[in-house]
Amino acid sequence: MSEVRVRFAPSPTGELHIGGARTALFNYLFVRNKGGKFILRIDDTDLERSKTDYIDKLFASLHWLGLNWDEGPYYQSQRLEHYRSEAQRLLESNKAYHCYCTEEDLAESRAVARKESRAYLYPGTCRHLSAEDEKALQQEGRNYVIRLHTPDQGQTVVQDAIRGGVNFDNAYLDDFIILKSNGYPTYNFASIVDDLELQITDVIRAEEHLSNTPRQQICAEALSYSLPRFAHVPMILAPDRSKLSKRHGATSVEEFYAEGHLPEALVNYMALLGWSPGEDEEILPLEQMISRFSLDRVSRTAAIYDVNKLAWINNHYMRVYDLDKLAEAALPFFEERGLLKTPLSDEAYDYFKQVIDLVRERSKTLVELAEGARYFYTDDFEYEEKGVNKQFYKENVADYLRRLAGEIRSMEHYDKNSVEELYSSFSEELEISKGRLIHPTRLAVTGCTVGPGIFDILALLGRDTTAERMEQAAEYIERKLS
Ligand code: GLU
Repeated sequence: MSEVRVRFAPSPTGELHIGGARTALFNYLFVRNKGGKFILRIDDTDLERSKTDYIDKLFASLHWLGLNWDEGPYYQSQRLEHYRSEAQRLLESNKAYHCYCTEEDLAESRAVARKESRAYLYPGTCRHLSAEDEKALQQEGRNYVIRLHTPDQGQTVVQDAIRGGVNFDNAYLDDFIILKSNGYPTYNFASIVDDLELQITDVIRAEEHLSNTPRQQICAEALSYSLPRFAHVPMILAPDRSKLSKRHGATSVEEFYAEGHLPEALVNYMALLGWSPGEDEEILPLEQMISRFSLDRVSRTAAIYDVNKLAWINNHYMRVYDLDKLAEAALPFFEERGLLKTPLSDEAYDYFKQVIDLVRERSKTLVELAEGARYFYTDDFEYEEKGVNKQFYKENVADYLRRLAGEIRSMEHYDKNSVEELYSSFSEELEISKGRLIHPTRLAVTGCTVGPGIFDILALLGRDTTAERMEQAAEYIERKLS
């Protein structure tokens, strides 16, 4: 059996969108499952919209996701000669022809079609020009394009690995352009020429291209090549089934990064957009996805983008992630917020790891992790307002905080257990619940009403910071109550 070869072929006209990234991922899972080559091709023949900056970002996004390619990148803009010579071959075998129709000619046939309420199809004006006619037109200095002579009757059947056979009536396909007057190929032509030359065995791409596939198959047949297999993966829609856009949340890989997602979590989430491993499993490490991936478990219906599910999956990965890796991923988010400055000493790095290990449980993203760990790095935080009303203004709170702070300062041995014991004995002595002490303490030292275990926090903050913040809170309460 020949080697399985798939390609991901983005157009560098914007940031890598979740739809494109998911297509790349399905290609990757498919080929890693079969053991073959993953090829990257850059479809950069749109001179106006393609930007090298987007190409760089694309590479960065694919690397970040871990979707590394084995071959390429091939650039279509550097393969123009191939398209031209293949078009020439079609001209020579009379399967393609020069078309000299002007914009006005075409506008006229469009107007006629509109008037007759039918879809516009190129009427084939230049299909059978004689050699003399052509010569005369060329002498006039007319530009030409190259069109493929397509069948007028019958059907073209796309055998889609996900959808089964999809029939297209040839009567609705006109003689489409394969090479434009500037010598550049159209997408349909360049794409199939490359797929054939690069010996792609399986073309896995977005559903929006399904209607292009009959055209590409006709090109392949005209060029006497055998077809690759095709699979069109379903669209990704917003929860209201509208087209996915910025208003539904992050849509590009860069935005997901900036929101503080982990690449493994995003990959896991994207795999489930249209594919299912069979059971109701949601958390799947990459190796499992690879070993279980198959196109027949890809859905034909649109996948729905669900930010809550992504958040849930990301939180899962945050919790189980290797701590060193998490530290590395999280560091830029702390730096960005001015909470940390690299390089960190060994001691500071160690402390950082303890902090994130404590906070990660409750964080859905690295942004939440950094925000949730703020109080470990700065005294500059406000008390949550609803907490102030609920916790600080209860009877004797300022006094309790002050007395506890005093005890803490005089503790010989300060750690999680000893400070917890202090709270236990203090609450017994005062005959109040431990909660009456813990809640205001949490607010005093973190500014928040919820968070990780309070004694873990106090231990990590250290004796002096803890005591100081409790005294400051006591002062604050006294000021407000006086
Ligand atoms: N450049 C095309 C796109 O980004 C590629 C489509 C294909 O895979 O053939 O939509």
